[in-house]
Amino acid sequence: MSSQKENTATNFYKEPGPKLDKESPFESMMERFRNAAEILNLDEGMFQYLASPFKQVIVSIPVVMDDGRIEVFEGYRVIHDNVLGPSKGGIRYAPDVNLDEVKALASWMTWKCAVVNVPFGGAKGGVRCDPKQLSMSELERLTRRYTANLLEVFGPDRDIPAPDMNTNEQIMAWIMDTYSMNSLKTETAVVTGKPIILGGSQGRKEATGRGVVTVTLAALSKIGLMPNKATVVVQGFGNVGSISADLMYQQGSRIIAVSDISGGYYNEKGLNIPEMMDYLKSNNNSLEGYPHAGAISNEDLLELECDVLIPAAKEDQISRDNAPNIKARIISEGANGPVTANADSILNDKGIMVIPDILANAGGVTVSYFEWVQDRQGYFWTEERVNRRLNRMMRSAFDNTYAVSEQYNITLRQAAYVYAIDRVATTLKMRGIYA
Ligand code: GLU
Repeated sequence: MSSQKENTATNFYKEPGPKLDKESPFESMMERFRNAAEILNLDEGMFQYLASPFKQVIVSIPVVMDDGRIEVFEGYRVIHDNVLGPSKGGIRYAPDVNLDEVKALASWMTWKCAVVNVPFGGAKGGVRCDPKQLSMSELERLTRRYTANLLEVFGPDRDIPAPDMNTNEQIMAWIMDTYSMNSLKTETAVVTGKPIILGGSQGRKEATGRGVVTVTLAALSKIGLMPNKATVVVQGFGNVGSISADLMYQQGSRIIAVSDISGGYYNEKGLNIPEMMDYLKSNNNSLEGYPHAGAISNEDLLELECDVLIPAAKEDQISRDNAPNIKARIISEGANGPVTANADSILNDKGIMVIPDILANAGGVTVSYFEWVQDRQGYFWTEERVNRRLNRMMRSAFDNTYAVSEQYNITLRQAAYVYAIDRVATTLKMRGIYA
């Protein structure tokens, strides 16, 4: 089943869905979009265009399970827009994925690509499944059939997926192979986040965390604090959280608390992050039982006195309930949507500088762009070159956003949206509406 439906701004944000309450990432996105559109004085038609996803596809994915039964899963791919170029965005596998969430995340990708000046539009995909319950071969069949059902959507010049929640480089390799087998040629540029041996990029895995640190260092210099004098708290110790913690540690910062699903780990004198990374590897990717730290709850961790708080776990962690208790000076959003829209003004009134997700975690899609460029050229860069260019692009995205926030006297979040929406709207005006 596939549908390409035209939406108006109204049914985009009023459509009922399980996550459509005031605290949902989707509503948070729309709230900020509306607010930036007002600051920009965006005309009604342009607002409607940019609030409506260009294409929404729902596919059913039949999979022969290992015991011979057929199970049917539901998959989604939403292209929010392709004004700046082919659409780009990850694919997530989770039991609660739904079209509504994927639509919100697809528009986030549009703004994210525009903030870092990457020539891509925004998209997102998902499959409603519990990957923990699937064997490797079931996961492979699911991935291949999802890809096969979306062959007309994906393409190196059309729509380019990447990893997201619960998907990884092996899954990207299967997507690349399925697409290539159907194209009768190897098409590495159809997907990013691939294993390096298959045309992946050096530095892609660390890119999001590295980008978080680049913008955090830029923010620290704005408040006149040296990184080696800063205290840092990191929520989440997955790919983004652990790399961010490690790179801040290398800058000489004191990382006083981190957490993962096993709990929070606190040491006022500073945690030994390289040791924790080694522990994680030897302990099945969990910090459970790490000995050189005290315990701290997730709630207390977020409210610790510190210079930098990096929420790198999941959505909706700082809401109007706990925002009044946050004591960090800078919040650098490693995750997508960790702060709900109704917490924005509380944090702003407290003078906290929030580096918004669409800027702070855009390092991943930036190196995805580098991967796509390298695949198309068939010429691969050194890790040093990738990191240097990533650093340059993240730094200039921060500076551009900061300049807009000063120009309009608005927060960095509002500025990032204003910058992104203005860029897409200006391009759209020049391209015009095809009739
Ligand atoms: N899923 C990642 C994100 O949310 C990366 C997307 C990409 O590289 O295309 O930014």
